[in-house]
Amino acid sequence: MISSVKRFCPFCGGPLVTRHWEGRRRLYCNACGNPLYENPVPATCLVVRNAAGQVLLVRRSVAPKKGLWCLPGGFMELGEFPEEGALRELAEETGLSGTIGELLGVTIAPNASYDTVLMIGYLVHRYEGRIQAGDDADAIGWFDAEALPPIAFDSHLRFIRQVFGEGAGADRKEGRAAEG
Ligand SMILES: [Zn+2]
Repeated sequence: MISSVKRFCPFCGGPLVTRHWEGRRRLYCNACGNPLYENPVPATCLVVRNAAGQVLLVRRSVAPKKGLWCLPGGFMELGEFPEEGALRELAEETGLSGTIGELLGVTIAPNASYDTVLMIGYLVHRYEGRIQAGDDADAIGWFDAEALPPIAFDSHLRFIRQVFGEGAGADRKEGRAAEG
């Protein structure tokens, strides 16, 4: 997995080098004498199911995976509780307000910009509003689990299968490309 390369220390602006430090190859700043610890970036996604047993998906209008479909969701902001961030993203991308029902799980996903994303999946139990694509989505729709469009991220597909069964999207080839 190749992530975007950081060249300068975020603390002092000094050039970063690669060095073996505490059991891993890490970026290191000779100017301030500190390693740059890099960690997964947390993001949330939500499985919303309607009365007909369909899953709500949005089509991505931005890279990565532009034009493919995914669950509503996105990166957490600083100081935001995970559930809060998830419901904010739900409102921004779908126009719905909702209530978190349960935590589906926490997993990791490869990402081109951040190397690794910590993906937190929630199941929405109650929602209201009229669906309308917004923010990073240019289309939105309810889909039967047996007839899913191409799903952008394997981590999202796993959460969908957790709720709708292993047959969901089973006819899709699962890529190993970077998630976003
Ligand atoms: Zn530095």
